[in-house]
Amino acid sequence: MNTKTVSRWRNLGIIAHIDAGKTTLTERLLWKTGAIHRMGEVHDGATTTDFSPIERERGITIGAAAVQTQWHDHRLTLIDTPGHIDFAIEVERSLRVLDGAVAVFSAVEGVQPQSETVWRQARRHDVPLVAFVNKMDRLGASFDGVVEQMRAKLDANPWPLGLPIGAEAELRGWVDLVDRSVVEWADDGEATRRPWTTDEAARYAPARERLVEAVADHDDALAVAYLDGLDVDAATLKAALRRATLRGAGVPVLAGSAFKNKGIEILLDAIVDFLPSPLDRPAVKAESERGDVELAPDDAGPLAALVFKIVHQEHGPLSFVRVYSGSLKVGDTVWTSKREKSVRVGRLVVVQADRGTDVERAVAGEIVAVAGWKDAVSGETLSEPSSKLVLDTIRAQPAVLSWR
Ligand code: GDP
Repeated sequence: MNTKTVSRWRNLGIIAHIDAGKTTLTERLLWKTGAIHRMGEVHDGATTTDFSPIERERGITIGAAAVQTQWHDHRLTLIDTPGHIDFAIEVERSLRVLDGAVAVFSAVEGVQPQSETVWRQARRHDVPLVAFVNKMDRLGASFDGVVEQMRAKLDANPWPLGLPIGAEAELRGWVDLVDRSVVEWADDGEATRRPWTTDEAARYAPARERLVEAVADHDDALAVAYLDGLDVDAATLKAALRRATLRGAGVPVLAGSAFKNKGIEILLDAIVDFLPSPLDRPAVKAESERGDVELAPDDAGPLAALVFKIVHQEHGPLSFVRVYSGSLKVGDTVWTSKREKSVRVGRLVVVQADRGTDVERAVAGEIVAVAGWKDAVSGETLSEPSSKLVLDTIRAQPAVLSWR
C-alpha cells in the first residue's frame, strides 16, 4: 500500500445545526477546489447530475452521499451528514464512515441545541474536529462569543487559530496566529496572504503565545520547545496542533463567511493540516465465523467494507461504500452480510460534484459507489465469501478523549 498517497486523503463530514450554513459552505468548498465551476450550481437545479429532480433542487449534499475533490495535493471526500435530528441513525452511520469533521456554527446564533447533539455524537465516535464560525458578516456576529459557548455548552477545548479582522459588513480578513501572517479578503472573497508587519508582530505576539501555551499543555514535544524558550515556528506549531487534534485534545477554530466566500481557503488548509487521513484512524473490529478480528487500513488485508447509503437516481441505485481493509474490484464476488448472499461488483463509481467517474478498484480508506445493485441494504458489510465478516462499525480502541 502506498502509505504516502493515503496519508493525503481526507474523508470528512460537515456537521451543523440546520441553517448554520452547511449547504452554502459545502458549495463554496466544492467551488474553491474546482469541483464545480459556477456558484449557485447546487441550488439552481441547472446541473446535469444523474440525481433525481428533487435531489437536484435540494442540492448536492442530499443527492450525493460522498463527493470527491482536491486541495493542494490532497484528496478530499466530503461525506454527507444529514443535518436534521430526524436522521439520527443516518448521522450515526455517517460518523462511522468519515475520519474527521468540520463543525459549523453561526456567529450570530452560536451553539444551538442540535449542534450539541451532533457534537456529542461525533465525540462518542472519536471523530477529530475543526470548527468553522460562519456568518461573520452578519449583524451581531461574535467570534469570541462562539468560542466561549463551545467551552461552556460543549465542554470543548477550542483553539482559535486566528482573529477575524473586522466584522459584519466590515469583515476584511484573518490574522493567522500559526504562521504569523494576515489573510486579506477582497469584497468578492478573493484572498491574499502576507507576513505580519513589525507592528502586527508586536500586537499579535501575546495572542500567539497563548495559543502555543494552550497546545503545549497537550503536546510534550511542543512543551519542551516552548519551555526551552525556543522560537516556535509555524511548522512546529502545526505539527503539534495536528497531533493534539487527532488525539481529541482540542479543536482548532477558524472563522469566515461562506455566503461572502470569505475564509474558505483557511478552512481547506485546516482540513488538510489537522484532520486525519485513514491511516491516522484506529483499526475497525469485525466478527467472522472464526471469531473477532481487528482490521487495520491496509489494502493487503482481507476485504471489509460498509454500505452506508443507497442513493436512487435515474440510472438505478448507487450503493455508497467505505472500504476499511483490503480492496474492492470490478468483477469481484463479495459476501453481503444483510442480504446473506454473494453478489458481483459490476461497476464502481467515484462521484465528483455532478459527475460520476468509473474506477476499477477502491482500496482501504477509499469511498466509492457500487452501481447497479437493486437490493443492497444500508449498514451491510461486504467481505470475501470465504470470510463472511460483519463489521462492528464502532471503531476499535477509541483514544481517550478529553475535550476539557
Ligand atoms: P444549512 O441549513 O446549514 O445547510 O444552511 P444553508 O447553507 O442553507 O444556509 C442557511 C441560510 O443562511 C441561507 O439563507 C444562506 O444564504 C445563509 N447563509 C449561509 N452562510 C452565510 C454567511 O456566511 N453569511 C450570511 N449572511 N448568510 C449565510
